[in-house]
Amino acid sequence: MGNQLGDRAVVLGGSIAGLLAARVLAEAYREVVVIDRDSLAGAVGPRRAIPQGYHIHALLARGQQILDDLFPGFTKELADDGVPVGDFGTSLSWYFDGRMIKKTETGLVCVAAGRPLLESRIRARVGALTNVTTIEQCDILGLVASGDGRRIHGARVQRHADSGTEEIVEADLVVDTTGRGSRTPRWLEELGYPRVDEERVKMDLTYTTCDYHMPLPVDPIGDDIALIPVATPAIPRGAIFARLPDRYAVSLTGILGDRPPTDPDGFLAYVKSLPVPEVFESVRHAEPMSNPMSFHFPASIRRRYERMARFPDGLLVMGDAACVFNPVYGQGMTVAAIEALVLDRHVQTGAPPQPRQYFRDLSRVIDAPWDMSAGADLGFPGVQGRRTLKVRLGNAYIPRLQAAAVDDATLSDAFLRVAGLVDPPQELMRPRVISRVLWPKTGSHR
Ligand SMILES: Cc1cc2nc3c(=O)[nH]c(=O)nc-3n(C[C@H](O)[C@H](O)[C@H](O)COP(=O)(O)OP(=O)(O)OC[C@H]3O[C@@H](n4cnc5c(N)ncnc54)[C@H](O)[C@@H]3O)c2cc1C
Repeated sequence: MGNQLGDRAVVLGGSIAGLLAARVLAEAYREVVVIDRDSLAGAVGPRRAIPQGYHIHALLARGQQILDDLFPGFTKELADDGVPVGDFGTSLSWYFDGRMIKKTETGLVCVAAGRPLLESRIRARVGALTNVTTIEQCDILGLVASGDGRRIHGARVQRHADSGTEEIVEADLVVDTTGRGSRTPRWLEELGYPRVDEERVKMDLTYTTCDYHMPLPVDPIGDDIALIPVATPAIPRGAIFARLPDRYAVSLTGILGDRPPTDPDGFLAYVKSLPVPEVFESVRHAEPMSNPMSFHFPASIRRRYERMARFPDGLLVMGDAACVFNPVYGQGMTVAAIEALVLDRHVQTGAPPQPRQYFRDLSRVIDAPWDMSAGADLGFPGVQGRRTLKVRLGNAYIPRLQAAAVDDATLSDAFLRVAGLVDPPQELMRPRVISRVLWPKTGSHR
């Protein structure tokens, strides 16, 4: 455990990004304190503050790789406990415009743990670090700054048990991972800084999820872990039907006001309207475990801290607090993991992290997933946002690549590596890939 950078780092928010931040900070600070308003210890199901925990959470391939690096044996431990684990290219059936891209071994590992289990296992690993402590059931009220506002010294908090009593938790470094509702933009304004620039892509998304028991011994999807009809401009209704450790689940997605219903009949009718009839066939006779639950997601938001001319020392931002991605692309947790590596690089220099350099590097790792998901959303004519030439070219090219991948395993592999955030998007623009897209060999077996 480290102590080269200071006595204490405080992490605001103890969800996925906060836990991963704590993991890397533990090597550089004598003590790391994680603060969250929820009850965390022993939480196994969806938490109150994380309503998205009811919905299927895919961990992309790069996220799985990073978790295994930060927590050796992480995937094996889950697999040993019965969590479905398979190859991204063979265990998942990906459909675009109703057509499945060719299955192929990618060597990329899919872990279908579901959100609450994944989070609780990460929490257990972080909890085992002797210099990390958690203050739960505690509201974060604000930052503590020096008189001139140029340095953050800690956070003001209030434990639920001590109603009315504010406390100051002092810190050499504060990392905000409080998610999409992060109040750092407002707190900075109160300290005299300009409002951080935000980019928004408004798609008015609704997620509705239902969990199912399956009548045993029926396994509706054979060896598959999930069927994924992805929403496209031609067929904007999407879904994930997944096998999880203890159940099956269907998450339906609708955009621009198309809201998958929460009443059981309406939900099934929506499932039936999907371009992949296997999902309806799988669940029509299955027993729902509860009524479907909805989550409304108005817009993706990217906060451009790297563009701020001034920023106080001692404060960083990470995870959804920095950038909230449209969840249909499954990027949020994996980007948080990639950002944890950026944080790690900045605390491993031996000097306190410099916010402006940190945010510049953070922005570089956010660029690709943001361009991919925000760009794809802008392919839907009603989605509001800026359509640059790059966005329009991408939206002309990627559907052609997906169509050609129906018969071309090389293209499936290239696409899944980029969508899994393992390879950069430029890999899809290499001449050998472009030529297969422009001159597809329909029906070939390669
Ligand atoms: C419907 C839906 C489906 C999704 N599916 C996927 C998916 O398939 N794959 C994927 O990778 N991602 C998915 N995501 C995104 C994913 O949930 C987030 O990216 C992920 O949780 C990381 O977020 P975070 O840790 O930054 O913030 P959050 O998970 O939002 O956590 C913030 C934490 O801060 C705490 N907090 C906030 N404010 C305060 C306060 N004032 N005082 C005290 N505590 C506070 C909260 O209690 C919470 O624990 C999905 C999101 C949604 C909405």
